[in-house]
Amino acid sequence: MGVDDNNPRLPVLNESDRPYEHPLYGRLLTLPGLSVGVTAIDTLLTWGMTNSQWIFPMATSCCGIELMAAAASRVDLDRMGTILRGTPRQCDVMVVAGTITVKMAPRVKRLWEQMPEPKWAVAMGSCAISGDFYRELYPVVPGIDTFLPVDIYIPGCPPNPESLMAGMLALAEKVRAERGRARTPQVPHLELLSATKPSIPRIGDVERSPTQTGLQEADAMKPADSAVARPTPPEASPALTEAPAATLSGAILGPEIETLLAEHGATEIPKDAPPLIPAARHLALAAALKARGYRQLVYVVASHWLAGKGRAGAVEGEAEHYEVAYGLRTVGRGSKSVWWSVRVPAEGSVPSLAAEFAGADWQEREQWDLVGVRFSGHPDMRRLMMPDDWQGHPLRKDYASDTHTAPWR
Ligand code: SF4
Repeated sequence: MGVDDNNPRLPVLNESDRPYEHPLYGRLLTLPGLSVGVTAIDTLLTWGMTNSQWIFPMATSCCGIELMAAAASRVDLDRMGTILRGTPRQCDVMVVAGTITVKMAPRVKRLWEQMPEPKWAVAMGSCAISGDFYRELYPVVPGIDTFLPVDIYIPGCPPNPESLMAGMLALAEKVRAERGRARTPQVPHLELLSATKPSIPRIGDVERSPTQTGLQEADAMKPADSAVARPTPPEASPALTEAPAATLSGAILGPEIETLLAEHGATEIPKDAPPLIPAARHLALAAALKARGYRQLVYVVASHWLAGKGRAGAVEGEAEHYEVAYGLRTVGRGSKSVWWSVRVPAEGSVPSLAAEFAGADWQEREQWDLVGVRFSGHPDMRRLMMPDDWQGHPLRKDYASDTHTAPWR
């Protein structure tokens, strides 16, 4: 024991060569009955901790329905002292039930950080455990233990409420064992480990780089409104391609609409595909249809075609392009629909319908975000589905799905 330089009367413990021990600890141990009292309090705390596991429900998809069912009257998870709370601040256990996307993972991590210690994480269902059949998709996290320390895995697709109860009982056992220092460390089976080793280092894995954890934490702590450079809205391009020549055929839309489509440049009305309209006429067509009662914009869906391919399959000499399909319908009884599509060169753009149909605003944003097609004149073109700083457009045919910007990839 040394002496504090600023206050010579204050002893300073040198803790560098032995674990810290409070100066009163030894004296307290000599008090009669204290160890019995401490053991009793510890037992009481363990009893309370294992019988009041309050769940923070991180339910995102089908497994979430089972989680809700577990809390409902038939299964009644409450009888175990396990209740679901809507705030992380009073919860002990985060149950992740469902698929977690790359965009959502930082939010999950932030909610986890907001839960007080001690806390535990449960991965409910194969999506939370490994990403399941979405595992290889670009937006899906391949298992939540790539960014959360998971205590209990509940297998199934989905696990039923009884499985969740079994998982919560297993968690209580684990907590009891840990508090009683009874936990026996797992002896790794090296051969099995090499066969079952996950492709991405999990939390606690010696091969996991500290950079990966640091990047995750930085991402999770990023303020929701942090200034992220927005992608520059695409410029309008005059280079628009006319629809290919063909003959009018089919009668599925009725003569009036067929005539209207023909007046706006449709040269063919296929039965199983939207008629192609020259991009230069497409705004006028939308306005004319709206004036005839087609007031609801049902969808805007874009496809990306690489050179040599198109809606008809392989086409020799075909340039890379997009095709954007639009659907309108009348509102009310006996509703009627109409569809058309526009061919857009790879470096070109298609006029935005946002001025004519308010719903085009987010639908066009989504198609630009995911597919990359440009909409000239759109009032607020920025990412909608993907994170603001995402690189590229994941539904383009040439998007390499293993080049992720997410730090856990
Ligand atoms: S594990 Fe199955 S049930 Fe659960 S979220 Fe995934 S797909 Fe849905």
